[in-house]
Amino acid sequence: MLTIKRVPTVLSNYQENASGCGRNCLGSCCLPVSKLPLYAFRSKEMHVTDPAGGDLPVDFFLNTLVLGQWEERMNRGLFRYDVTACETKVIPGVHGFVAQLNEGRHLKKRPTEFRVDQVIQPFDPNKFNFTKVGQEEVLFRFEAGEEDKSCFFESAPVDADVLPNVVAINVSPIEYGHVLLIPRVLECLPQRIDPESFLLALHMAVEAGSPYFRLGYNSLGAFATINHLHFQAYYLAIPFPVEKALTQKIKIDKDASKSNVKISRLLNYPVRDNNIPFNVLISDSGKRIFLFPQCYAEKQALGEVDQELLETQVNPAVWEISGHMVLKRRKDYNEASEDYAWRLLSEVSLSEERFQEVKSYVLGATGMMEFENNPVELTTNTENNLLAACTTPTQFPGGCLVLQ
Ligand SMILES: [Zn+2]
Repeated sequence: MLTIKRVPTVLSNYQENASGCGRNCLGSCCLPVSKLPLYAFRSKEMHVTDPAGGDLPVDFFLNTLVLGQWEERMNRGLFRYDVTACETKVIPGVHGFVAQLNEGRHLKKRPTEFRVDQVIQPFDPNKFNFTKVGQEEVLFRFEAGEEDKSCFFESAPVDADVLPNVVAINVSPIEYGHVLLIPRVLECLPQRIDPESFLLALHMAVEAGSPYFRLGYNSLGAFATINHLHFQAYYLAIPFPVEKALTQKIKIDKDASKSNVKISRLLNYPVRDNNIPFNVLISDSGKRIFLFPQCYAEKQALGEVDQELLETQVNPAVWEISGHMVLKRRKDYNEASEDYAWRLLSEVSLSEERFQEVKSYVLGATGMMEFENNPVELTTNTENNLLAACTTPTQFPGGCLVLQ
């Protein structure tokens, strides 16, 4: 069994002391009789280009609901620190890695042992889970509506046949508007992404309708802290380096697949399932999905990670891999360089051999076949000219799949 010791992130104010109820929790005692606000998204058809729902203003979901309610919780003092006061800068260099100094996130906590060699572990009701969260941390319920437009209800009873999905604040935010999307909270699902929950996360990205609102997922072994199914999301008005990175389209045999999903591999980016820990980034309002298989925790458990990198205590989860580095020490923030970011992410990356294995699992699972002798086709969907920096993509051990 492989384990690492790390300081767990506190996602809810009830994480450390959640005994007893009588306080409007998200468990079966309180949630079914709650009247939390409900956002019912249009589920008939996804119009990625048209996020506005029915009679609601175009920016209602993101600005009024997510960010407006998030700020309201900030004013009520529910967060552990003021993330809006954290310093942030773009690290000079080709990629534009973003560094944030966040000294409040991990203080005053003892390291805990985490198992890192099992991506799927059974749900353990004795450990903290989101049914213990207080309803004041919840912004709204997020559920499929029956209309062909999105609707909002200020106060909505829970139907007996509905399993509520909730959007709650992360009390240790790493950015403005940092929230958790918890699918079917009462079902107590382990941290294991499934098609239904993934589609739910995509719907949230579509409703938000902003390229700056991203959702992310960390598997166990890839720095998820809590084994209860959840996604994270926040707003940051800068492109992530991974979104600007050059990609190489993987040519799919059209006869073998009727899907119009394009699959690409990241080039010139330092990161590269079957029990392989991974992170997922949902970006560009749900139009681009990045899948990052990773092995940092495994290497850490085996003592193969550079001591200097370990000392920074930075956990390369989905945000860090996407290029938003949350740093804990002033020294690391002041000295943050592209070289540091690159070294950290290189440690995350799988070997070429293992990456190829993962790629074939993914293609196999999607029923797609790769053309033999894959011709190189380079695409970039930003105006940044990264081609020059990309002339030696093979010098780096990885690449990762961009499901696009
Ligand atoms: Zn309760």
